[in-house]
Amino acid sequence: MTQKCIWCNRQTNKLKQIAVLAKGQIWLPLQDGKAFVCPEHEEEFRIFNDRSRRYGILFISLEALFVFTLVVSGFLGNKYYFFGYLFLASLAAIGLVIFIFPFCSPTTFEFMSVKKSIKIARIIGGVIFAIGAIVIIIVLLSG
Ligand SMILES: [Zn+2]
Repeated sequence: MTQKCIWCNRQTNKLKQIAVLAKGQIWLPLQDGKAFVCPEHEEEFRIFNDRSRRYGILFISLEALFVFTLVVSGFLGNKYYFFGYLFLASLAAIGLVIFIFPFCSPTTFEFMSVKKSIKIARIIGGVIFAIGAIVIIIVLLSG
């Protein structure tokens, strides 16, 4: 079976197998702490691996918090102005957190490559953030 680079999904015979720290890693599809990578993508991959290990739990905690405030304020938003703003701010925050921490599921990373998954997550996060932020600005200007 030909291996592919975990970072860019390219199949070449120049791939090298590297061992990386897997402690706390819940996103990347590492096999026993090992991955195949092009020599020129090793550095970027190692940096992203460390980043996703370090901030994986923070990412989940922040998203859980903002989804919670989004849902609660969604129910109360038509009763009190404050919750309407909180709803939009929560939406913007969800998008911003995805943009800062573009972590996808291991299957997504494996299927699309880490590089492309990060790009798509950043676009989705950026769009969600922009929707929340733009609607807040429109509401503030019209209020
Ligand atoms: Zn590569």
